[in-house]
Amino acid sequence: MKILVVNAGSSSLKYQLIDMDGEKELAKGLVERIGIEGSRLKHSAGEKKTEIEQEIPDHEAAAQLMLKILQDPEYGVIKSTDEIGAVGHRVLHGGSAFTASVIVNDAAKQAIRDCFPLGPLHNPANLMGIEACEKVMKGTPQVAVFDTAFHQTMPPKAYMYGVPKMYEEKLHVRRYGFHGTSHRFVSRRVCEFLGVSPEGKRIIICHLGNGSSLSAVKDGKCQDTSMGLTPLEGLLMGTRCGSCDPAVVQFIANNPLKEDGTPLGHPVSVDDVLTMMNKKSGLLGISGKSSDCRDIDSLADAGDPDATLAREMLIYGIKKYIGSYAAAMGGVDIIVFTAGIGENNAYLRERVIDGLEFMGAKIDPEKNKTRKEAVISACDSKVTVCVIPTNEEIMIARDTLDLVTTGKVRDN
Ligand code: ADP
Repeated sequence: MKILVVNAGSSSLKYQLIDMDGEKELAKGLVERIGIEGSRLKHSAGEKKTEIEQEIPDHEAAAQLMLKILQDPEYGVIKSTDEIGAVGHRVLHGGSAFTASVIVNDAAKQAIRDCFPLGPLHNPANLMGIEACEKVMKGTPQVAVFDTAFHQTMPPKAYMYGVPKMYEEKLHVRRYGFHGTSHRFVSRRVCEFLGVSPEGKRIIICHLGNGSSLSAVKDGKCQDTSMGLTPLEGLLMGTRCGSCDPAVVQFIANNPLKEDGTPLGHPVSVDDVLTMMNKKSGLLGISGKSSDCRDIDSLADAGDPDATLAREMLIYGIKKYIGSYAAAMGGVDIIVFTAGIGENNAYLRERVIDGLEFMGAKIDPEKNKTRKEAVISACDSKVTVCVIPTNEEIMIARDTLDLVTTGKVRDN
């Protein structure tokens, strides 16, 4: 069966068509600037690549264009949309309602709507993507796969915040965690790769990309994760500040600065401060130059003090989470690095593991040069350290296939 994986944003729609017979990627693409001047589609099928610029007023038009190019005589890979057995959608926030992926029906759509306040930027866009595909592919099953679902096994002591309990009971204020599809894929794949059972294993997954999160996985189930009610909590990220004293929000709201560092002269709103914490902080905010870890590395290697500080903060933050999750699980057997930084940045991996010999983790600098699936720990390391490239699209496609063929997700 061929499964279409869709990730809809407020002005974009990413897609990938996967042949589940062998899990082969047939084509992928991105519709950008939906509803904005300059909208375009970028599409590739193997070596063949094309770009189309045209007016794309809404998500339905984007979905139509996606189907058109997938059936194109030159760049397409299918003859008819009937070949698409089902569509799997990435949905950011499933709140506490979703512990696993589901077939989309009216109740599921309402539950996604109920989560709008928890994911105000993403969930409405994700639902738009679902509804657009429903319209242009009538009768094709649609599946929703949630970024939060894998973390729903966290115990209350890990997901509760220390604010009055009624905020969780009435307003659902708690830790949810994100990147769940990646954490789930990687936690399964690493065990398969090492030929071990997830049962009895204590795994720490470091998903390090533009957005970064760690998770502690014991017996295949998530015990804790670093992102919270929103993806702002946890590690220092590309443009997000990660965890800090909540009083910082009030202090900055009352004493905001202009871009040039001089006082703005009047207070700003909490929303304004959170925008700054989400979009102008992290590696970008500390270095003052870039949110991209490759740029930070080049600058730091050339002696830039602010980029060096940003990199040191990131490394220190990852180490602290690894230490705390190892303590929380009573030890650690496997540490995994994944996503853009985790898969490609050997320097950062080496620095993170450096000094963790006390808890049995030791890196092999030669093995660590990899960018592929590999064990990178030394032969005498008690903890196995690995690089496992993430593949959220495959996980979404597998869930979609399972739900439409057996009604149930395997290995949730
Ligand atoms: P997203 O969270 O947007 O999916 P990615 O997982 O693509 O992000 O990660 C982006 C980060 O990964 C950037 O900071 C980038 O510097 C880093 N990165 C991506 N590819 C490479 C590479 N080949 N070498 C080093 N760093 C990389």
